Amino acid sequence: MYEVLQLIAGRWEPGGAGHGLTVRNPADDMPVTRAAVSSAEDAAAAVRAAREAAPGWARTPAAERGAALHAAATAIEAAAVDLAETMSAETGRPVADARDSIMAGVRTLRQYAELGPVHRGRALAGREEAVDLMARQPRGVVAVITPWNDPVAVSCGLLGAALATGNTVVYKPSERAPATGWHLARLLAPHLPEGVLGLLNGDGPVGAALAAAPVDVVAQVGSTAAGRSIAAACARTGAKALLENGGSDPLVVDAGVDPLWAAGQAALGAFANAGQICVSVERIYCHRTVAEPFLDALAEQADQWRPRLGPLVDRRHRNAVDEQVQQAVKDGARAVCGGVVPAGPGAWYPPTVLAGCTDEMTVMRDETFGPVAPVAVVDSFGEALHRAADSPYGLAATVLTRSASHAHRAWRELPAGTVKINSVFGGAPGGAAHPRRGSGQGIGYGPELLDEMTVTKVVHLEAPPTGW
Ligand code: NAD
Repeated sequence: MYEVLQLIAGRWEPGGAGHGLTVRNPADDMPVTRAAVSSAEDAAAAVRAAREAAPGWARTPAAERGAALHAAATAIEAAAVDLAETMSAETGRPVADARDSIMAGVRTLRQYAELGPVHRGRALAGREEAVDLMARQPRGVVAVITPWNDPVAVSCGLLGAALATGNTVVYKPSERAPATGWHLARLLAPHLPEGVLGLLNGDGPVGAALAAAPVDVVAQVGSTAAGRSIAAACARTGAKALLENGGSDPLVVDAGVDPLWAAGQAALGAFANAGQICVSVERIYCHRTVAEPFLDALAEQADQWRPRLGPLVDRRHRNAVDEQVQQAVKDGARAVCGGVVPAGPGAWYPPTVLAGCTDEMTVMRDETFGPVAPVAVVDSFGEALHRAADSPYGLAATVLTRSASHAHRAWRELPAGTVKINSVFGGAPGGAAHPRRGSGQGIGYGPELLDEMTVTKVVHLEAPPTGW
């Protein structure tokens, strides 16, 4: 059983709210973590400590900050198996998969360790006798609020970019993965001066107290509802809101594609990590001419995925996923496979394929975040694009097509931060997109995240008049 502590001004201690939270292993319902929840006063104290540490960390040479992050990355790499076991026990992600995601986090931390020291301003073309600069400076104190579904990789990105650019951080990991966040913070903190990293434990209200505190940036990855509430808090305090939120990513299957290959792509997109990836395939628009063999092959794929899937994060989330599926069936969808909550302990849910879906169904409209592949049949590529674009979200989209003109039309027209052609995952490192609509605001990844974590200052320097 993990007993999780908070970190304020270099001191590890239990949170002061007077109540705790318990996380159960979603594979078997056994308790794995207890965390004493942080109070609003703890949030205020953590922000004060981060504020006090900010000038010293901002003055630390960028190369030294980078070296500290490299040392932390080495420590995380050495502890990757332990950390993966913690993540797996809290979130249900299979251990090998959890370890891969931690190693992705280590790589991200190292990237920011390298990019921080070369992130720079510019010299301006001013008068000959003057020096004109655009200098970059850290914003100050960054609140980092993260989700449970990829807890280490996501945290390493935000923490790495904030720290590399000279900001101090108050970190609030998800209430569904507090020991994972605590373990990560314990690996980072020894490489940083006191107060540069703080840790708070707890759920939404703790995040809300932190977002309402006098910080300079609130960088949050999580649901759209939480993001909206943080944006409102930032509007009141003047802090910058950097939000990477939910999605309902469409997959378009065009006429003329191999339906077996398309089903493999759809299954990978919908079922990997039991559908709990921000860019999971959430709804499928399949051309009528390939729909029948595509659905048959997708059902076969679901069978093959079943033994590889971990449980969903908890029973509350499983209920929410199942509710969307049952409502879709009530409204006329057909469960080709899955869609039945298994008996027994844990939060398991089978890979599920739904046929005959319509855009009004919640399973098509909202984020499901489970191993569910709802399919609608379309009669043209234009119809598929139109329906794919009609969403309150705009995170990512995938199009499977043999037509170059359809591919180009898709990437230009789809209102999403990322458009993938003929592959549901993949892409070059360093990609940084603006999420559209309810999927967030600002750039939460890549080298551009360093721009978001800093402000520019224009400097004009002249020599004093001669004769002084
Ligand atoms: P969540 O919004 O419930 O929680 C995320 C974090 O926000 C947690 O630390 C939580 O305590 C905190 N929080 C909740 N309400 C808050 C409030 N009112 N004020 C401040 N903080 C608050 O999300 P989750 O269930 O942990 O994660 C899943 C969601 O995250 C999905 O919607 C998924 O798509 C999204 N996600 C997005 C990306 C991306 O890059 N766009 C990446 C991973 C996950």
